[in-house]
Amino acid sequence: MDALPLDQPVTVYPMKAFPVIKDLVTDVSWNYRVNKKIPPFAPRPDTDWRIYQEDVDRVQVFRKCIECFLCQDVCHVLREHEQMEQFGGPRFFVRVAALEMHPLDSVSRTRMLKDELGIGLCNITKCCTEVCPEEIHITDNAIIPLKERVVDEFYDPLLMLVRKIRGAK
Ligand code: SF4
Ligand code: SF4
Repeated sequence: MDALPLDQPVTVYPMKAFPVIKDLVTDVSWNYRVNKKIPPFAPRPDTDWRIYQEDVDRVQVFRKCIECFLCQDVCHVLREHEQMEQFGGPRFFVRVAALEMHPLDSVSRTRMLKDELGIGLCNITKCCTEVCPEEIHITDNAIIPLKERVVDEFYDPLLMLVRKIRGAK
């Protein structure tokens, strides 16, 4: 509100990426369907629950998300290209980052990022980061590190060779 020029009219529109139900209300239920696909936190069985403060800080910032879906609304992959089937969107990269970077979590969601959430479609325009009201550094702190994990796991030539030798996918 502090940044609004109050000497000019303020026009409010419903979100553009999702179907309008009425007035400013849009149907954001697609987001909840994406959310359900993501495996939840699964602590390692031998966990002693001690975590370095820097690891806590790194994931805690992602928990500030209030699911306003503004980042989803401005992302051109969803807004202009309507890639709902192939792409999860920045909000869910934030959620996956919170889980993947948790030092006690035991599940890998890297294949899911590549195949189901389509992280490769993100071209780091940073529009999502610019609109986040919680000032989460979505691209720098969530998306780029997750992209690096996908590249390391699926496109590193040395690891690909090792996997081929072992007969793994
Ligand atoms: S940085 Fe990626 S996720 Fe964020 S708005 Fe741009 S394309 Fe979408
Ligand atoms: S804009 Fe920020 S607070 Fe809103 S859904 Fe996206 S990550 Fe969460």
